Amino acid sequence: MSIEHMEQMETLLPEWLETSRLRTGQGEVASYIPELAKAARDTLGVFVADSQGKTIAAGDYGIPFTMQSISKVFTLILALMDHGEEAVFYNVGKEPTGDDFNSMIKLELVEPGIPFNPLINAGAITVSSLIAGDSPEDKSQRILQFFRKLAGNDGLDYNMDVYHSELETGDLNRSLAYFLKQNGVLKDPVEDVLSVYFKHCSIEVNCADLSRMALVLAFDGVDPCNGEKLIPRRYVQIAKTFMVTCGMYNASGEFAIDVGIPAKSGVSGGILALVPGQYGIGVVGPSLNSKGNSTAGVHLLERLSKEFSWSLF
Ligand code: GLN
Repeated sequence: MSIEHMEQMETLLPEWLETSRLRTGQGEVASYIPELAKAARDTLGVFVADSQGKTIAAGDYGIPFTMQSISKVFTLILALMDHGEEAVFYNVGKEPTGDDFNSMIKLELVEPGIPFNPLINAGAITVSSLIAGDSPEDKSQRILQFFRKLAGNDGLDYNMDVYHSELETGDLNRSLAYFLKQNGVLKDPVEDVLSVYFKHCSIEVNCADLSRMALVLAFDGVDPCNGEKLIPRRYVQIAKTFMVTCGMYNASGEFAIDVGIPAKSGVSGGILALVPGQYGIGVVGPSLNSKGNSTAGVHLLERLSKEFSWSLF
């Protein structure tokens, strides 16, 4: 990665961010999880990290937010590390859906009863049930420890207000889980699985944390800052492929064309993105478009990708 690019980014990023911030007016903050509705609509922050420890940040990069669907990438990786590819993909498919993230429509088609992929809610709930551990608490602790290690931040923790808010209102997820249980995909009690799922969605981070987690993926599972091998390369490859094909919900195709890098968004407005071999990126912008992605966050990533020719395609 060129020092020139980093310097240019450092100078221009605040201005690009403010241009993108204008897009926050075109979306809405998610409100189906009541606690998320408290986020400020005009928030926009970004944090970029490279392998040399150089970082560039702009806007509201320090504000905390919950990972939501971004966490699904890393629970998938942990399940793969726990059980291997064959066991995980016996329970969850590898295909995009083109439907909303919480859709029930595609549960039964093509692969009867098995969720299409690990990044839609039905798939991620299934993956939560596959995390090794003696109890839901044990599973949740293992997930939290893994995320702390990837983010290089021992202080990562749950936002319990968001967790309870989703536990109380998550009846669509509950119904997906009962459907999966009925089909024999889930073995454990539904509420046990949901507590693991809702908890990892409510892990609180900021843009810097996301950029560190993304950097590990950008360097094939090795933390470039200390050389520690945290994830087998094959599982990073699988995760990055899902990010490209399903990471931005049913706007993944458009994002691949306009931005062209692996990314995963969440309904709190976070986006984790990476430029392979170069950067880990964390973005937050809680104002969402109709597909559930950060309006301003996507706009900013598109700008960065075009300015620095990041597209893989
Ligand atoms: N916890 C959220 C849910 O299950 C995650 C969804 C998302 O970020 N798309 O609805």
